[in-house]
Amino acid sequence: MIIEIAENAGFCYGVMRAIDIANRALDKHNKLYSFGPIIHNPQVVDEYEKKGLKVVEDIDKVNGPVLIRSHGVAPEIYEKLEKKGVEIIDATCPFVKEAQRYAKQLVDEGYRVVIFGDKDHPEVKAHLGYTKYTASVINSENEAVKIKATRVGVVCQTTQSVERFGRVIEVLSKKIRELKVFNTICDATDKRQKAARELAERSDLMIVIGGKNSANTRKLYEICKETAKSAYYIETEKEIDSKWFNGVEKVGITAGASTPSYLIRRIYEFVKALK
Ligand code: SF4
Repeated sequence: MIIEIAENAGFCYGVMRAIDIANRALDKHNKLYSFGPIIHNPQVVDEYEKKGLKVVEDIDKVNGPVLIRSHGVAPEIYEKLEKKGVEIIDATCPFVKEAQRYAKQLVDEGYRVVIFGDKDHPEVKAHLGYTKYTASVINSENEAVKIKATRVGVVCQTTQSVERFGRVIEVLSKKIRELKVFNTICDATDKRQKAARELAERSDLMIVIGGKNSANTRKLYEICKETAKSAYYIETEKEIDSKWFNGVEKVGITAGASTPSYLIRRIYEFVKALK
């Protein structure tokens, strides 16, 4: 059985940067609040909780230095934290910040803003805040058909699929007179998705590692499921069933942007031992 790890699997630049910022802040502060989990990976969140990073979902529960995670937050959250007088340690990914700036710019220029993404994802919720909650969030061509306006500006959740975004833009371009598009899909996402697809094409079985709450990992899983003969989405090696590998010659492993390299290695070694 040949086992191969996809290129670009695991932590992206923004997550690595957020973890690095959190580590430095935890050297300085015994207790640090995180507005939402630092990344969408329960194992890493547990590890950081032990180091003093307390996850809160309600801004009113913040009573000290607070970390803004890579997904970013809406402008009013900064305002509330500033009013509280707490130290803000901002680990918003610079690419997410760029998308937020474009969202605001489009509103300022008078466009009807459309955000291509998952309405429940924290990054999209923050983008919405930058449009003063005037934007429509869509996630399919069917929803794009329903957009009615003459001037439309589009931004995108950074972890969306390039192909699906292209199809949505095609629909919009046929019906909207003035369409301004900022393709804010992050390079890291695109590279990770391409590498996963390439590996899945030459694999019998794909293992996709990442938090079950991670949108970018779920997309990798969807790509692998469509391409390889079989694909499994796991958080840890405990979920692996040795029966999956009966008759399998080539195994591919990929991982979402919030999966640490030590976990990828551990799962690789676990599968290797099954041989
Ligand atoms: S996927 Fe891209 S935009 Fe999102 S945190 Fe990582 S580097 Fe930043």
